Amino acid sequence: MEYQAILEEIAEDVRPLVGKGQVADYIPKLAAVPLDRFAMAVQTVDGKTYAVGDARERFSIQSISKVFTLTMALKAVGEEALFQRVGREPSGTPFNSLVQLEYEDGIPRNPFINAGAIVVDDILVSAFPRPRNALLGFFRQLTGEDTVDYDPVVARSEADYGFRNRALANFIRSFENLENEVDRVLSLYFAHCSLAASCVELARSFVFLANHGLCPTTGERVLTRSQAKRISALMMTCGTYDAVGEFAYLVGLPAKSGVGGGISATIPGELAVAVWSPGLNKSGNSLAGTKALELFTTKTGISVF
Ligand code: GLU
Repeated sequence: MEYQAILEEIAEDVRPLVGKGQVADYIPKLAAVPLDRFAMAVQTVDGKTYAVGDARERFSIQSISKVFTLTMALKAVGEEALFQRVGREPSGTPFNSLVQLEYEDGIPRNPFINAGAIVVDDILVSAFPRPRNALLGFFRQLTGEDTVDYDPVVARSEADYGFRNRALANFIRSFENLENEVDRVLSLYFAHCSLAASCVELARSFVFLANHGLCPTTGERVLTRSQAKRISALMMTCGTYDAVGEFAYLVGLPAKSGVGGGISATIPGELAVAVWSPGLNKSGNSLAGTKALELFTTKTGISVF
């Protein structure tokens, strides 16, 4: 497949959309990101990398990090313990909503809404003596880059403006679905939301999911085949905020988006693809990024369907 030519065509096709949409503005550092960026990268399971645009520029991966925390929690405690405390259904509510938690007794709908990610982080805080280091080590191993890091300015602002996340964590704790101190759990949550990486690094870090749990670059088995399938299924049904149905319809790939404008997706058995453009649509997904992924599955003719 001529991936390089396809990426270049897509970059041209989406040009009119780049700069449209709203940049996330709940913290100053994200509000300051230039709207005119566009990047896309593909990492194939057989080791090839293709890229276009600002694909080596790092950006705030935000909620995309929730795929890595979920992977670590699944490895650490297994399916049964994990899914007693968090569900696996799309929420149909905004990612930071509180209402569902009240009538569902503190069990978040899925691991990708904020409430679910906070429970996953609680599992990591219990399982690892230094969870932030463990997560960073895991992310560095997956990207193959030991310079990827948390952005301390973003992490600080997440904490300063994290009123709703603090409310969620306290609420979950009141239902006894949090084992650790709210502040310890949130410090991990704010840290992983601040992880910065480029599209090339993100595509590389997702390729183990495309390769059924086995990292093709290091040869390490990150997840079993079945676990990789389950995480991909959760991405498909819960990974793109309150627009998963529309995203599946348009793109047809398991994907996870973040409010920094990044989206990582996989084509099982083939490749991981990452896209970044900071202008968001109404649902909080990258506007040009969603279109680029739609064009990618249309032009290549491959999706999970
Ligand atoms: N860090 C933000 C929050 O927790 C947004 C995360 C995201 O959905 O990308 O509210």
